[in-house]
Amino acid sequence: MSLTRRARALRPSPTIALSTTAKRMQAEGIDVIDLTVGEPDFDTPEHVKAAGIRAIRDGRTKYTASGGIVELKDAIRTKLKRENGLEYGRDEVLVSCGSKHSLYNLAAVLFEAGDEVIVPAPYWVSYPEQVRLFEATPVIVPTREDDGFRLTRGLLEAALTPRTRAVILNSPCNPTGAVLERPDLEAIADLACARDCWLISDEAYEVLVYDGAQHTSIAALGDEVKRRTVGVYTMSKAYAMTGWRIGYAAGPSALINAMDLLQGQQTSGACSIAQWAAVEALEGPQDHLAVFRKAFEERRDLVVSMLNQAKYLKCPTPEGAFYVFPSCADAIGRKTPDGKVIETDEDFVTELLGTQGVAVVQGSAFGVGPNFRVSYAASNALLEDACRKIQAFCGSLI
Ligand code: PLP
Repeated sequence: MSLTRRARALRPSPTIALSTTAKRMQAEGIDVIDLTVGEPDFDTPEHVKAAGIRAIRDGRTKYTASGGIVELKDAIRTKLKRENGLEYGRDEVLVSCGSKHSLYNLAAVLFEAGDEVIVPAPYWVSYPEQVRLFEATPVIVPTREDDGFRLTRGLLEAALTPRTRAVILNSPCNPTGAVLERPDLEAIADLACARDCWLISDEAYEVLVYDGAQHTSIAALGDEVKRRTVGVYTMSKAYAMTGWRIGYAAGPSALINAMDLLQGQQTSGACSIAQWAAVEALEGPQDHLAVFRKAFEERRDLVVSMLNQAKYLKCPTPEGAFYVFPSCADAIGRKTPDGKVIETDEDFVTELLGTQGVAVVQGSAFGVGPNFRVSYAASNALLEDACRKIQAFCGSLI
């Protein structure tokens, strides 16, 4: 069968590929600890689930406006004002089927052949693929571990060209957990304004920050930067609502309107029931957030400390999200007891899975290595067990 050039160029998500392998091994009865997934292990809060059930009982089960119900748009606007210091009108907010959908629609209306889009690495796996889907060129800008994986003014300046259409920011970052601080954001905003390019700010992990770190939305730095920024947000992480598929975007009405038109021809909007549940999530009690944050912070500390005790690993302590991104550079070139040479971080994660049954994702999948990403959205007992196995694997290398 002949598929389009676009379809042929699509690459599978490496995170999904690894988690599929882990699930297959589990189905075969092999004991596997899967730390590849990017979703909270907590349940959706009860009052949010109840709102979904109520929406079904009340017959709120029909098509909605393609860009989202007014009640959810208003709940989002209130949240953006309260938490992010941002004021938007209803025509500047769009509800999508998850923030991945918002990002895809944004790429569709913003990028075309000849455009360059700056993607700092390590990056979330979908950014380069979404850029390529619309025939634009992702310009990968590796950040340095010594700089805390932050996009510095110098790195950005060197990557900007007259073709730069947009810069994609992701703070707190998946996979590193790095949080951009206000001075970093100010430098990026200055350059974007001076060089007339868009800023796409993916704030999926905005509430998951630790050690007193603050999340700042770049659009809140001033009117000029707000005019060229689209913020992308999700209900998935903070409300443990990954399966409900609700995300949203906020930005200038001309862009939001184009994304809405696209949704009108595409999904006809997000699930009505999930939208009503999201209204309750944003407007109802927020007590679970402190519980999530505390649990994640404790787990982060546990994992960082245990990985730093493993031979050949160096694991920085990130300030946000629920991932750590240790370096396994000192393990490269060593051999497993049965003689296999670890040449890359992909070899490292493959051997770790094969010998110890711990699934993690190689750093090269995120554009930087030799590292690997561990998701600590799992119970303390599982994390302890997994880290002990990682220690044993590293200890066995010769
Ligand atoms: N952005 C980042 C950085 C993510 O890690 C994820 C999910 O893992 C998403 C966006 C997409 O989340 P969703 O489509 O569930 O809103």
